[in-house]
Amino acid sequence: MAIPKFKNEPLTDFTKPANRRTMEQALAKVRSSFGKEYPIVIGGEEIYTTNKLNSYNPSRPSEVVGVFQKADEALANKAIETAAAKFEEWRWVDPKKRADYLFKAAKILRKRKHEFSAVMVYEVGKTWPEGDADTSESIDFLEFYAREMLRYAAPQPVTKIPKEKNQLVYIPLGVGVVVPPWNFPLAILTGMSSAAIVTGNTVVLKPSSDSPMTGWMFFNLMREAGLPEGVLNFVPGSGASVGDVLVGHPKTRFVSFTGSKEVGVHINELAAKVQPGQRWLKRVVAEMGGKDAIVIDDQTDLDAAAQATIASAFGFQGQKCSAASRAIVAEKVYDRFLDLLKEKAEKIRVGLSDDQGNYMGPVVNEGSMHKILSYVEKGISEGGRLIAGGRRMEGEGYFIPPTIIADVHPKATIAQEEIFGPVLAVIKAKDFDEALQIANDTEFGLTGGVWTKNPKKKEKAKNTFHVGNFYINRKITGALVGVHPFGGFNMSGTDSKGGGRDYLLLFLQAKSISERIK
Ligand code: NDP
Repeated sequence: MAIPKFKNEPLTDFTKPANRRTMEQALAKVRSSFGKEYPIVIGGEEIYTTNKLNSYNPSRPSEVVGVFQKADEALANKAIETAAAKFEEWRWVDPKKRADYLFKAAKILRKRKHEFSAVMVYEVGKTWPEGDADTSESIDFLEFYAREMLRYAAPQPVTKIPKEKNQLVYIPLGVGVVVPPWNFPLAILTGMSSAAIVTGNTVVLKPSSDSPMTGWMFFNLMREAGLPEGVLNFVPGSGASVGDVLVGHPKTRFVSFTGSKEVGVHINELAAKVQPGQRWLKRVVAEMGGKDAIVIDDQTDLDAAAQATIASAFGFQGQKCSAASRAIVAEKVYDRFLDLLKEKAEKIRVGLSDDQGNYMGPVVNEGSMHKILSYVEKGISEGGRLIAGGRRMEGEGYFIPPTIIADVHPKATIAQEEIFGPVLAVIKAKDFDEALQIANDTEFGLTGGVWTKNPKKKEKAKNTFHVGNFYINRKITGALVGVHPFGGFNMSGTDSKGGGRDYLLLFLQAKSISERIK
């Protein structure tokens, strides 16, 4: 049967009572299994250790969403060895069959969509729509990469010459270590893992210690889809200890990482060191942080620009790699724009993420909350003017309201370092050209956008704004699989465009075969 063309999974309309009810049921179901314990799984073997890792609900940190095992060095080594042995079988499985596991997983996930979203509501503080968008993106990755594998498995064009039959085929690499972040705990984890699996590699998945439950949900989904044991191995544990063993192992062939710049740089260095017995140079795909900016020109619809800036800065509490953390505003409209931002930010409802009425939930954990608040202090001590938010809110959870700091110097710490929370630095620029220069003047290059009606300025920004994902007159978050292939420049990563046609190549190597014929 012909496979229909890829289409993005539609988002759920929660204004419809039926959808609201099913989401409420899903939340209740997830809640009823709080505190349950889940194993490490290596080659199908379920392993329990004495060292545990709790996953907490950041809205109510006294609640334990799930209890996980912390792998140690011996288990990390066992996982790589197991994946290496399984690779010798999996690599020969017909690509169509491999793609079918992804199609099947997408089908199951679509049916149980709200349950997966509900886990993220509780585990990382996603609001309903943010959880739903994460799950939808995961379905998209499964559907998109399955189709992409079929494209790469088909005959590839090579130039014809007489008396030879020539062919180019894509083959897998080997064992991949997949290290995702907690902020898109399902979508990014699904994207990296499913791309590695469908291309014929075997995977050791180390979920983030802040979101092992969502990682477990994906692992179990693939089991349900019938994926043979050992192709995907589930190994939670501390990044600093277990992560280093996995990355450094001589049988690890590649590392697929998404997370902070600091950890990405460390992994890149560690993976570059050739270990005794290692037969290849490891491939590292690292997608890292951002210091993403929206440039506001004086020739624009200021109200719409302020709305888009608010959505980009404060959706999921500013904890998206694509989040706007700088608004760079032309002098002429600076004061008016600030008023609009303040007015809109103060209307935002912040609170428990399972309460549908809240636009923002908590930040992910206590450490993160303190780090964000210390950046706010730093911003003020370096001359910034706090115009909204800036303090922890009452309550058990880690709630920080939308925070706006005006008059920030372009070189100030909060204009240069990634904060990863609901903090927007507003910077004044003389004009559009100076705003673009400021926008490019950080070590990152992930997302960015401009708001202007002037075609010449748009053209200039298209050419000179040095980011992997550039947006005009819209928000700078919410990239869609297949529509906006996603990945950044400079210290934002290796520009692997997730959800794009080049992505699977990162998990493959091309073999050229030439036969002499009469
Ligand atoms: P971290 O870098 O803290 O962690 C990411 C992952 O790396 C976690 O699974 C972590 O495990 C693991 N890890 C930590 N140390 C090591 C190590 N030495 N070896 C191997 N693995 C290790 O990032 P966060 O999870 O806090 O995620 C937020 C960051 O991710 C932000 O900087 C954000 O910008 C970035 N990001 C980038 C995206 C992009 O596409 N460019 C997309 C999404 C997020 P553990 O939890 O156990 O420490």
